[in-house]
Amino acid sequence: MSKISTKILVTICFSIIITLSVLPPSSAAGETKTTGPAPPPQCSSGTTGECRDKTAALKLKIIAIASILVTSMIGVCLPIFSKAVPALQPDKDLFVLVKAFASGVILATGYMHVMPDSFDCLRSECLPENPWHKFPFTTFVAMLSAIVTLMVDSYAMSYYRKHNLGGGGGGGIKKCCSNVGNEIKLESQPQAQGNTIINSDESEKESQLLRYRVVAQVLELGIVVHSVVIGLSMGASDNPCTIRPLVAALCFHQLFEGMGLGGCILQAEYGSKVKATMVFFFSATTPFGIALGIGLSNVYSDNSPTALIVVGLLNACSAGLLNYMALVDLLASDFMGTKLQNNIKLQTWAYVAVFLGAGGMSLMAKWA
Ligand SMILES: [Zn+2]
Repeated sequence: MSKISTKILVTICFSIIITLSVLPPSSAAGETKTTGPAPPPQCSSGTTGECRDKTAALKLKIIAIASILVTSMIGVCLPIFSKAVPALQPDKDLFVLVKAFASGVILATGYMHVMPDSFDCLRSECLPENPWHKFPFTTFVAMLSAIVTLMVDSYAMSYYRKHNLGGGGGGGIKKCCSNVGNEIKLESQPQAQGNTIINSDESEKESQLLRYRVVAQVLELGIVVHSVVIGLSMGASDNPCTIRPLVAALCFHQLFEGMGLGGCILQAEYGSKVKATMVFFFSATTPFGIALGIGLSNVYSDNSPTALIVVGLLNACSAGLLNYMALVDLLASDFMGTKLQNNIKLQTWAYVAVFLGAGGMSLMAKWA
């Protein structure tokens, strides 16, 4: 357990280092360039538009905090409690479909929510022309973040193998791949159950579980960024006309995203304490973002250069992370695994589930 926390810590450090290493030159550039052409009027901190009512907006925001908290919890708990249903045991087909749906949701979160948000921020009219409109920072940072995610993934696995599986001296990745090959061979001829075979099977299962756990925690980290930011911009708004439809949209958003994350928490087979922590952490992020936005509404502006740069870069990091994880750790590992490879019909249904999850989450990008 403590090893996993160490890995998560490493992940957090990596993301912070990445953010910090990219931030200083950019914010400096933002300051030096303010003498250029005047920014468009919508960049000034005062909100425009006729529909402004602070008390009505505050009331709506408090309703939003409560309802989003509840829907997030429902969403993330739905797959977790589905374990009580016999048809949804991990070895059943329906479980595979739930997981495929969840993976689709995560993939769409990365491509349809987080990545476009980052583009919006970093290509904003309110940022100086020179660095921000001359270089695609979003895709650059997303690419770096995908590589770093791979590094964390592979180093964490080789570290684990070296220290827990004994004798796994060098080449964690190589060993992993040869083990995967073994597993495939084993499962195709289940009669051959020698002592050593059971052992390697067992350790393979154990490391697979560890993988799921790392994936679940890193995913939560990636999703949290988006959840806080959408809450923050709602909390900072004084416009009841835009907040009202946004409450419903964010509820659905969190419900859906919670289902995606819940599917991943489910396969990590955590104890109830860790599960509860992760559920709470996810459910609290958007309400926390709204509260933070209310608290900062006098100083925070969606369109200030600093906010645009920080939010844009964070979104780009989490987009790379989510895209990598959804494709490699969730989708590819399932679809290339023995269970789906041996069952074409199930594979087809799993793709339907992926399309449903990704499609539904994409639809939601219209609102939040
Ligand atoms: Zn979104």
